Amino acid sequence: VKKAVIFGERNAGLVDVPDPEPFGDWAVVKVHASAMCTEYKGFDAGRASDHIGHEGAGEVVAVEQPGHVRVGDRVVILPQYPCDACALCRAGDSIYCQNSINVKETVGTLEGSGTFAQYALKPVRRLLPIPEGVSYEHATMAIDGIGASFGGLRAIGVDALHTVLVTGLGPVGLGGVANARFQGARVFGVEPVAWRRERALEMGAERVFDPRDDNVLEEIMALTDGRGVDRALDCSGTVEGERVCIDAVRRRGRVAFVGECRQDLRLRIGPDMLTKGLLLTGAWCFNTGDYPRIMQIIRESPLMDLLVSHVMSMSRIQDALELLVTGQCAKVVLKPWE
Ligand SMILES: [Zn+2]
Ligand SMILES: [Zn+2]
Repeated sequence: VKKAVIFGERNAGLVDVPDPEPFGDWAVVKVHASAMCTEYKGFDAGRASDHIGHEGAGEVVAVEQPGHVRVGDRVVILPQYPCDACALCRAGDSIYCQNSINVKETVGTLEGSGTFAQYALKPVRRLLPIPEGVSYEHATMAIDGIGASFGGLRAIGVDALHTVLVTGLGPVGLGGVANARFQGARVFGVEPVAWRRERALEMGAERVFDPRDDNVLEEIMALTDGRGVDRALDCSGTVEGERVCIDAVRRRGRVAFVGECRQDLRLRIGPDMLTKGLLLTGAWCFNTGDYPRIMQIIRESPLMDLLVSHVMSMSRIQDALELLVTGQCAKVVLKPWE
């Protein structure tokens, strides 16, 4: 069977791997769709990687101990390998688990740990059912397409009376637009890539700014009667995007950070936090208790086919990663069997 790997700088392709075997309560899932995420960063920087992809959806094909899932079940594959026993895991916050399982030690192989592969191997508790009527291509949006920004917006509370600013309109930020629109909020965006600004407008954002324009803040203030937006969600993973969120949000506003940033934001406690009475929070993925709500959005939102901009055969992994480097896309979904 095949899986995709990154060989080195701007070089990716398929390799053959042995068929995975079910192990204890780890099930083998035939991956039918896997959404692409930040893998292109390693591809662009020349970081070789043998196990890529963490957003999959597929069908259970083998399980040693039937119970939580059965052969034939359609499932979303949750990322990572949390312990499922600590207080965070039990509260649904398994993404923050500090006691992750060592896959190599537990099952003896890392094969099946990436979802850009024809088969994945996962503990059955990391497999959640896909409701009827939801395609695999849409179901894989549950992780970072819709799930990540859902977790961020849930942390700061968004409703139909709010104006929400989303900075960074890549695959996660465009999911944020879809989520905020589903809640009925008025949405503004900030994004440097024209293709993505255009896509956000198609998805119902009212105004989308290029961060290189020097009057972005003034325009946001003018559009909100001089107060600022009620909520802001940074999906840019840049200091500039984080700063725009803090500056554009109104007094007593709330900001959630979803984008991972490698630089340090300078936060001024007086003017940023005290004077404005801000609530700032980080959010990584979503609480698994919210999975049914996320699936409901995926099933009911009219924006899913705009969020999924490309569906490609996994054999085109090189083209797909190059496309993501250009930024001329929203969510790209790989099909391992086509
Ligand atoms: Zn992801
Ligand atoms: Zn845990």
